[in-house]
Amino acid sequence: MGKQSTKSVKDLLFGDLWEYAPAPQGTDFVELDERYGHYIGGEFVGLDSEETFDTINPATEEKLATISVADEATVDRAVKAARKAYDNHWSKISGAERAKYLYRIARMIQEKARNLAVVETMDGGKPIKESRDVDIPLAAAHFFYYAGWADKLDYAFPGATIKPLGVAGQVIPWNFPLLMAAWKIAPALAAGNTVVIKPAETTPLTAMLLAQIIDEAGLPPGVVNIVNGAGATGAAIVNHDDIDKVAFTGSTQVGKIIQRAVAGTGKKLTLELGGKGANIVFDDAPIDQAVEGIINGIFFNQGHVCCAGSRLLVQENIADEVIAKLKQRMSTLIVGDPLDKNTDVGAINSREQLDRITELVGSGVDEGAQKFQPKCALPDTGYFFAPTIFTDVTPSHRIAQEEIFGPVLSVLTFRTPDEAVKKANNTPYGLACGIWSDKGSKLFRVAGALKAGVIWGNTYNKFDPTSPFGGYKESGFGREGGVQGLLAYLEVR
Ligand code: NAD
Repeated sequence: MGKQSTKSVKDLLFGDLWEYAPAPQGTDFVELDERYGHYIGGEFVGLDSEETFDTINPATEEKLATISVADEATVDRAVKAARKAYDNHWSKISGAERAKYLYRIARMIQEKARNLAVVETMDGGKPIKESRDVDIPLAAAHFFYYAGWADKLDYAFPGATIKPLGVAGQVIPWNFPLLMAAWKIAPALAAGNTVVIKPAETTPLTAMLLAQIIDEAGLPPGVVNIVNGAGATGAAIVNHDDIDKVAFTGSTQVGKIIQRAVAGTGKKLTLELGGKGANIVFDDAPIDQAVEGIINGIFFNQGHVCCAGSRLLVQENIADEVIAKLKQRMSTLIVGDPLDKNTDVGAINSREQLDRITELVGSGVDEGAQKFQPKCALPDTGYFFAPTIFTDVTPSHRIAQEEIFGPVLSVLTFRTPDEAVKKANNTPYGLACGIWSDKGSKLFRVAGALKAGVIWGNTYNKFDPTSPFGGYKESGFGREGGVQGLLAYLEVR
């Protein structure tokens, strides 16, 4: 017989047993240039005279590379390259030919997955297990999926006459840098358009690695052009006269500016904006499974997810049990070095984002909600925020209405399904919700009443290229993913 442990069951379950030895992901094989410019007309370009900014690792605050800023003239050059490629080549070749390039890009993303995952984590702060297991595989999957459609567009919209739009201008955010690039580029190219895309200023690196992949894949010059910069560069793309379509993913605030800028120009527009998703947990739900889903829904990627389940609506009679289990589970989350393979919650993407989270969490306390954070030692350098849960939240609190975009969960209760639906719909947004119930009929009835573009049943944050994604209300319009995602890049008559 072995020596008997003197530890309590609680200690055994939530104490030492959960302390993992460090499992750092090596970075020796990562080769980054000191400076990145743009990828225009099949060439890597960048002028010494251009303005620059540094991209840093938010977990260490160390500089990773210097990045050029594209001004209006550089954006114009990229749009001209895209137009030339569209007129002379891309709109003329068959769908099967376009598919070959897309398949090649997908396979090359798979081949270079490890490098891409590590760079994504270094530049953006997300845990390596997410960039490795979610972002990069899904980015490849999007290219594979739309490669499959490229020669079957007539079957996608039977009986209709379809035509590509021309040159697409695309602007993307920092929370899923490579994946958002794939969401934008793959359907546009499959449908026969050429693109000018701008990554977010805090996460330009995997876009530049994608440019290298596109170059090695032999994509004809000008079909994909990637320019770096911040808001002014994005605005130069949006406002360029020779852009036929604007696709934007980012904040609702910037989405509104873009909608105004595009109004009356004849440019087609799709907007994927912010969210304030709710997980609705009924008293007949599988509670432990729901707790895991709630944790995944808000602490996954530090809550830097537009469709994050940042609100929990829990039926009143099980609220105490669910909240207790949530707090216990939060206490086992590993917060820290994003390059450690055990880390659950990595670094906040930037100082600005950390300040915004801190300000909104402060407003929650000031407005009277109860804050809980598990004991966790945050690293001394870098931008980190402890997983946070608020109880005693009312629907009018800022933390119940505004997108925090951080690892912060606001808990509200409800008594009836109707009250749950009313509370879930009571925000300016309408991007995502999760419903947890043992009863299929309840699940479908509630789903039908929710004003959200994406609704998960007994799960959360599951993505697939075949499934359309998009919002209602201030979460935007248009769909990405699935056959619907092609519509954003085609004229269908
Ligand atoms: P942001 O709106 O600040 O920036 C997004 C992009 O727009 C960046 O590339 C930025 O440089 C550019 N930009 C800024 N000002 C611009 C302007 N005036 N004209 C053109 N481009 C401009 O958003 P962010 O902070 O990078 O990203 C977080 C936001 O993105 C959150 O609100 C999140 O919900 C949203 N998001 C939505 C989805 C979705 O699918 N609905 C997906 C991911 C992120």
